[in-house]
Amino acid sequence: MTTEWRRRSGRIGVLTGAGISTDSGIPDFRGPRGVWTKDPIAELLSTFDAYLADPLLRQRSWLARRDNPAWRAEPNAAHTALADLELAGRAVTIITQNIDRLHQRAGSPPHRVIEIHGNMFEVVCVECDFETSMAATLERVAAGEADPPCPECGGVLKAATIMFGQQLDSRTITKAVSTAETSDIFLAVGSSLQVEPAASMCALAVDNGADLVIVNAEPTPYDGLATEIIRDPIGTALPRLVAEILAD
Ligand code: NAD
Repeated sequence: MTTEWRRRSGRIGVLTGAGISTDSGIPDFRGPRGVWTKDPIAELLSTFDAYLADPLLRQRSWLARRDNPAWRAEPNAAHTALADLELAGRAVTIITQNIDRLHQRAGSPPHRVIEIHGNMFEVVCVECDFETSMAATLERVAAGEADPPCPECGGVLKAATIMFGQQLDSRTITKAVSTAETSDIFLAVGSSLQVEPAASMCALAVDNGADLVIVNAEPTPYDGLATEIIRDPIGTALPRLVAEILAD
């Protein structure tokens, strides 16, 4: 293992996953206390075909959105450390798989955060161009519409997240690819790196000359490509790593 990568002065790409937000009280999916680890059926809530086919699943999905801890979550030390890295003058672009907006709330500039899997605070119609906020939609749920239809066309509404079986937004993926290809340092933080194509940004970065640094408690399929692997808790490991990068 080499620690020399900390001295590289160029662009820093960061791929974040649910593990960066567990310290903010939002459970991950596949970690030991993950939502899917505890309740495998919950995976269906993130599966596009099942969501479209089953009104009862959609009703459950709206209630899960209502009860999502992201509404009350605050950014933690790891989100803040990444914002500080940018504030210190480093060129940082974050590709996040998270839908919780905690990077932006920690101070990372919104145009420097690529939400590759969308966000949970907006709602879209799957049939037409209608868009609205999650808060407004949940008010309809509270008022008695268990599965509120699109007010424009009657179609199915869903959170503006990318579910399994859905195409990623092409402009978003282009930005993510460009970030991976132009990074000198590529940090993968709090992700099991099992969801593609997000995880493959690690390989793309390495193919284009980046040092890949993985910060995650559990092994990932991309560990073999990493210059350094850090298994310590993200809430302490990332602020330490950022301090080391800025010190070199
Ligand atoms: P994942 O659940 O597959 O993996 C999270 C990884 O983080 C696990 O390997 C776990 O061991 C590790 N981890 C958790 N807390 C940690 C900590 N404090 N220190 C060190 N390691 C820690 O998450 P993923 O790879 O992001 O894939 C899940 C998908 O679900 C993503 O696409 C994401 O969109 C979505 N998701 C988002 C949120 C959110 O927005 N906060 C939460 C859950 C799931």
